Amino acid sequence: MTEISSGFGNRTRSFSESKIFAREKTCRYLFTMLRLINRAIAIGSLILLSACATAPTSAVKNTTKTFTTVVVDAGHGGKDSGAYRRYGPPEKLVTLDVAQRLDRKLRESQMKTVMTRSSDVFIPLDERVRIENGQKNAVFVSIHFNDSRRRGIHGFETYYHSGVSFELASLIQAKLITIPHSANRGIHTANFRVLRLATCPAILVECGFLSNRSEGNQARDWEYRELLADRIAEAIVEQRYGAGVYRGSTQVTAQSQSASMGQDPAPSAAVHH
Ligand SMILES: [Zn+2]
Repeated sequence: MTEISSGFGNRTRSFSESKIFAREKTCRYLFTMLRLINRAIAIGSLILLSACATAPTSAVKNTTKTFTTVVVDAGHGGKDSGAYRRYGPPEKLVTLDVAQRLDRKLRESQMKTVMTRSSDVFIPLDERVRIENGQKNAVFVSIHFNDSRRRGIHGFETYYHSGVSFELASLIQAKLITIPHSANRGIHTANFRVLRLATCPAILVECGFLSNRSEGNQARDWEYRELLADRIAEAIVEQRYGAGVYRGSTQVTAQSQSASMGQDPAPSAAVHH
């Protein structure tokens, strides 16, 4: 009983062993095939990944410590008035005035600037993106004013899309809220076209609500717009060269005051109508 069973057992074992061996061979073949397929997939996905790296969202260059150019974008313009109130200037005119003041302050701080518009003209968003991404070593700053049906809402907001823009957004917001009686509505991410498609650090500032009586009145005042431009310029210079480097504040305000009171009152006069 023992012998037979062992003999039978042996035969069975050797039979099943050879079967297992054959199966193992098949499995090994399949494994090799699978490994080859896996490798092909891995190489394929690597190629796909590197192809994806050229897509706009992953190609943002962090130039926050090296930039030489600031692209200054005055929101809206021409047929696009932006926020519009019965009393006071439309958004497109106050954004242009703040942008021009910012542009001058940055140039006085030895920075190269490019403005997306320097008059009351309509510039499509894609054209703004083209100008923004056409600069090699730049940051992008878009100037806007806010609007709300609820007239009580007021304060500054700064928007960004890519993580590399967060530092600049924080700094601009921090400088703006040093303006007396200002309200901090925070830093937020947004999918605005000029932010989403940017290949450099890009932020958008909402310099207060035209729909709010107090901030709307302030926006009409050139001295206040000068102050807004000064705080934004200080933040940009500080982002690039560190704290305490910006010299614009007192000198530039004094200069622009005499310029606006004297020979060149054009920008503020334009917004008063
Ligand atoms: Zn706007």
